Amino acid sequence: MTESVGDLSPQEFERHATALAGWIRTYLEHPERYPVLARLAPGELRASLPAAAPTSAESLETILSDLDRVILPGITHWNHPGFLAYFANTASVPGILAELVTAALNQVGILWRTSPALAELEQVTTGWLRDAMALPSDWFGMITDTASTSTLLALAAARERDPALEIRHRGMAGRSDLPRLRIYCSTQAHSSVDKAAITLGLGAENVVRIATDDAFQMRADLLESAMGADRAAGYRPLAVIATLGTTSTTSVDPTPAIAALCQREGAWLHVDAAYGGAMALLEERRELFAGVAAADSVVMNPHKWLFTPMDCSVLWTAHPDVLRRTFSLTPAYLQTNEQDVALSYSDYSFQLGRRFRALKLWFVMRAFGVEGLGARVRHHCALATEFASWVAAEPEWEVVAPVPMSVVCFRHRPAGVTDERTLQAHNATILERVNASGEVFLSHTKLGERYVLRVAIGNLRTEASHLATAWRLVREAAQG
Ligand SMILES: *Cc1c(COP(=O)(O)O)cnc(C)c1O
Repeated sequence: MTESVGDLSPQEFERHATALAGWIRTYLEHPERYPVLARLAPGELRASLPAAAPTSAESLETILSDLDRVILPGITHWNHPGFLAYFANTASVPGILAELVTAALNQVGILWRTSPALAELEQVTTGWLRDAMALPSDWFGMITDTASTSTLLALAAARERDPALEIRHRGMAGRSDLPRLRIYCSTQAHSSVDKAAITLGLGAENVVRIATDDAFQMRADLLESAMGADRAAGYRPLAVIATLGTTSTTSVDPTPAIAALCQREGAWLHVDAAYGGAMALLEERRELFAGVAAADSVVMNPHKWLFTPMDCSVLWTAHPDVLRRTFSLTPAYLQTNEQDVALSYSDYSFQLGRRFRALKLWFVMRAFGVEGLGARVRHHCALATEFASWVAAEPEWEVVAPVPMSVVCFRHRPAGVTDERTLQAHNATILERVNASGEVFLSHTKLGERYVLRVAIGNLRTEASHLATAWRLVREAAQG
């Protein structure tokens, strides 16, 4: 018998895809039959599998049957309506369907000609989203895997904006003619800013963390004095990251004041709206985004609060020319006749190939419509407001930060207990107990000295009943 050297047959694909569609249907119909937080111990899944790959082929039946046996116990269910940790991320039905097509078409977006549909649909969908969020209509959009990558690209462009620095060509090491380049963000900004500074060789110590006010918003007066002190020391303020929807509390930095300082100092303003950007769909909440039009770049993640399966982050910039100058590099074997008229996204990133992520954004935006997406975001905000009202009504519980979006930070403070370490231990125990229930999954954060619990609502399947369950569980856990 000769070994087969080709693919499995398309007929086999259809047979298994049909079965798998049923499996996914059941999964989506009953997400609550699994504990939201995976219960296995570290190393358990690895230990249950053979150390070596199979020498001979296994049937798809066998492989698929292992999904239930091996994989599901190791899954933390982001699609579970009780998933209230971090920032939720929903695999919506249109998104799941698009991912299937994406895999089948297997586009590798190197140049326009390697996938015209990818290059053009990415411009269309990022333009649709930009306009739905009321961002300036001439901004250029591109899709990346994560906000971390989007912010890295934005800061790379910021570094290249002044060609006199010549960093692209000469690098930064061993140069006495380069000033120290400084980046500013609030103490509440995401760690991806530090990682970008590390990756770009700017140095973690050149990320200046600016203190926030009582509402966890960057203090523009302190930003101004930090930039002034740096100038006086001969440093160069390179970029400021304003966060609209911080990771801990969804606080919103004062963009207009920050933008004015950036203008004055010639610093690049990058707006991190990875989570909060979805709120810009709501006309009645656009005041949160005042001043954003003055930014040089903005990131928002459809894979967070826009129901697009992981991964999909969008970066817009007012200066595609600078981004292109930063990264465009076309080796001879990639030169084409149409390169002057057709856009190749590889000119705007350190990555050559890219996935066809625009397809799922296109499916999601069409299947829900801009109004439908907004209605869902609005509903989540209303649920958060309701949850916060339950907490605020109980004497021993406190809401510890404003709730501008769909995240509630809160904690239990039993009468007479004021020591922060005791309160931390107490609330950490509550969290452990609640998460062990398997019914909901919450996370925590630290706000200054205070350890707080965090409920983040952003999953399409979460309803008031799930929040009622979470509230019952935390109160029971607090009683011991
Ligand atoms: C989640 C988040 C990030 C990081 O997102 P990734 O896509 O996982 O890199 C950055 N900034 C903010 C404000 C976030 O909420």
